[in-house]
Amino acid sequence: MTAQHAETGTPDGLERLWTPHRMTYISGADRPAEGYEKPTGCPFCLAPDRVEDSLVVARGDAVFAVLNLYPYNPGHVLVCPYRHVADYTELDLAETAELAAFTQTAMRVIRRVSNAHGFNIGMNQGGVAGAGIAAHLHQHVVPRWGGDANFMPVIGRTKVLPQLLTDTRDLLAAAWTE
Ligand SMILES: [Zn+2]
Repeated sequence: MTAQHAETGTPDGLERLWTPHRMTYISGADRPAEGYEKPTGCPFCLAPDRVEDSLVVARGDAVFAVLNLYPYNPGHVLVCPYRHVADYTELDLAETAELAAFTQTAMRVIRRVSNAHGFNIGMNQGGVAGAGIAAHLHQHVVPRWGGDANFMPVIGRTKVLPQLLTDTRDLLAAAWTE
């Protein structure tokens, strides 16, 4: 990474860019009291109930869309069932259908706000396949650009200023309901 990249927040700088938000999760300050039927340590079970700094983009009946706290690219969305299930075959028909519909809507929304050139879509099933949180399945929707230049200039912000995750969430959430 060049010094210039370190200053401008180009994709090479993503890890550093999102770190402040990561800390709010690592702190565990919002961990729910014991007694939830949901696993208390699962960030995908906790995400829908977050109010402050929520990264949830849209909520359905059976699934929701949330920004990835560890994005491969800006606008990296995860579509998750509310239920804490690990395997794709465990989804019921309603969950399967809504997960597919949310994936399509996420693509449309991300295209509209960021002019993505392409996408990587998919799930890692099991830790051996690369799932970071294998216990709660999540469909990745990763926007791609030629060269993967980030989309900050597209939404009218200077490249110099990092776009906070919550700003990205607001942008996508607004576009989702249009
Ligand atoms: Zn979970």
